[in-house]
Amino acid sequence: METSALDRFTVEHSAHRVPDDKRAEMLAAPGFGKYLTDHMVTIRYSAAEGWHDAKIGPRQDFSLNPSTMVLHYAGEIFEGMKAYPMPDGGGALFRPQENARRFNASAERLAMAKLPEDLFVDAVRELVRIDRDWIPTGGEASLYMRPFMIGTEIAIGNHPSDSFLFAVIASPVGSYFKGGVSGVSVWVSENYTRAAPGGTGAAKCGGNYAAALAAQKEGAQQGCEQVLFLDAVERRWVEELAGMNVFFVFDDGSIQTPPLTGTILPGITRNSLIALARDQGMTVREEPYAIDQWRDDVASGRLVEVFACGTAAVVAPIAQLKGRDFDISIGDGGMGPVTAQLRKALTDIQFGRADDPHGWVDRVF
Ligand SMILES: *Cc1c(COP(=O)(O)O)cnc(C)c1O
Repeated sequence: METSALDRFTVEHSAHRVPDDKRAEMLAAPGFGKYLTDHMVTIRYSAAEGWHDAKIGPRQDFSLNPSTMVLHYAGEIFEGMKAYPMPDGGGALFRPQENARRFNASAERLAMAKLPEDLFVDAVRELVRIDRDWIPTGGEASLYMRPFMIGTEIAIGNHPSDSFLFAVIASPVGSYFKGGVSGVSVWVSENYTRAAPGGTGAAKCGGNYAAALAAQKEGAQQGCEQVLFLDAVERRWVEELAGMNVFFVFDDGSIQTPPLTGTILPGITRNSLIALARDQGMTVREEPYAIDQWRDDVASGRLVEVFACGTAAVVAPIAQLKGRDFDISIGDGGMGPVTAQLRKALTDIQFGRADDPHGWVDRVF
């Protein structure tokens, strides 16, 4: 046992680390979320003690009483972020304070305890540091960091949990889409919506993902890789995919993305791309976009590119839009020039290949 430099975490190195040659094999073809690193962070919360017992230790299974609240009432929130390999051999996070802030916004919405933002960031940084050998290099591989929190009160009665477990695990990842960055096909969900006004659409909670799976399955039956959700009230306005925001590129060079009205997850990738597009002098509108307009604009040639974005997949072109009575192609099935340019601007900063004028890169080591 040793105490970390931060004096906040007790550190126990794993006695069963994956051997170097085995790890190298895993890092050569990491897939997405297939392997986990040697260590994990855990921090506990109780009403009496507040946040306590912060640990970095060997990754291990949880043991939960069967009446633990999360197992019944879905009190779970999470974040998704990446540690990027730097050209000089170091590692860096991208805007981790934004994840910390959003994590607390999710906590508030689900009546869970808030974690001090610097403790959140330190937890992620410490795990990156101890498992730094797990950051893949080459291509656009990175170490995916998954902070999450569950309600751990042992009670079948439904009320806000009085205790919580915060944890961070990490997984080396290659490209999110198996086929590389070619265009994805999207099913427009008519039978299901993702988020209603006043609901949890802006919170990053497992429940949102659970509720999107039936639509995802329906889309898969239609041969589509992703599902596009429309607003729950008029069933007309484009919101987002199950786990990615969407952008539209027009023939006049302007771009548009739906506004954050509470039913859309405020993506950090979304926010960063808006800033980068504006840096490049592009006009960016955060305005509602109707699904009928999308179809008309493809037909007229006004809409030239569409892409989805999020930490996991970065920027992925949408090449096909399919619904109950339509099936349309956008572009030539690959990545359009504006999508490619924005994607490059973002990944060049994330991987330390370009200047970082906004101060987004957070060097860990
Ligand atoms: C996480 C997430 C996104 C993307 O957010 P980033 O911060 O860019 O990774 C978009 N939509 C949903 C529903 C999400 O859960």
